[in-house]
Amino acid sequence: MTTPAAPDDASLKTANGLLLVISGPSGVGKTTITHAVERSFASAVFSVSYTTRPITPQDREGVDYFFISEASFDEKIAGGAFLEHAGVFGKRYGTPRTWVEEQLSDGRLVILEIDVQGAINVKKAMAEAFCLFVLPPSEEELLRRLRARGREDETTIQRRFGAAQHEIAVAKSCGVYDRFLVNSILPGTVKEAIDVVGGELARRGMPRG
Ligand code: 5GP
Repeated sequence: MTTPAAPDDASLKTANGLLLVISGPSGVGKTTITHAVERSFASAVFSVSYTTRPITPQDREGVDYFFISEASFDEKIAGGAFLEHAGVFGKRYGTPRTWVEEQLSDGRLVILEIDVQGAINVKKAMAEAFCLFVLPPSEEELLRRLRARGREDETTIQRRFGAAQHEIAVAKSCGVYDRFLVNSILPGTVKEAIDVVGGELARRGMPRG
């Protein structure tokens, strides 16, 4: 489950870029959607978060996350290194502030794949952030997808499923998300996400490249 953490301060420098937040419960397909959006826009960059969770065989250091110790994470908090940070499933995750600010001031589309608490804190720091939430077609289908990944035992799956139900309820009530995408069929949802982001760039008069 998620524990709240306030942004380190509320003054994010945004310049000409667009900060795009993509959230959604485990197993909903948000990572595939995130990377498809990243590939579709020349100016897009993915923000690599810092985490205290252990690295798994699927993870690439510095590509999916920077894996650091609890002590290093505390040092980064003390040094104001995070734009936002939150506890998820008992581990901590944080978004690098300086890197995000630099990319935004270069006019880039900066993509954060973060949880709902992170999105709430980002929106407090930067009201112009554009936030998408990926929903499963139904709770039954989400449970089926979590089991189909074959990554966790049933107890972990049930814990992630409970957390997902909570996260969806908070996402719907918090008023932070600009769009909700229902991921029924992945290629269709990927196209919809790319269209929505392209539309938002156009609305703001920003180039796609
Ligand atoms: P996982 O460990 O399964 O990759 O990620 C667990 C959850 O942490 C996901 O919901 C993911 O979006 C979220 N997450 C990843 N990085 C960050 C971050 O920097 N900040 C916050 N608030 N959540 C994050």
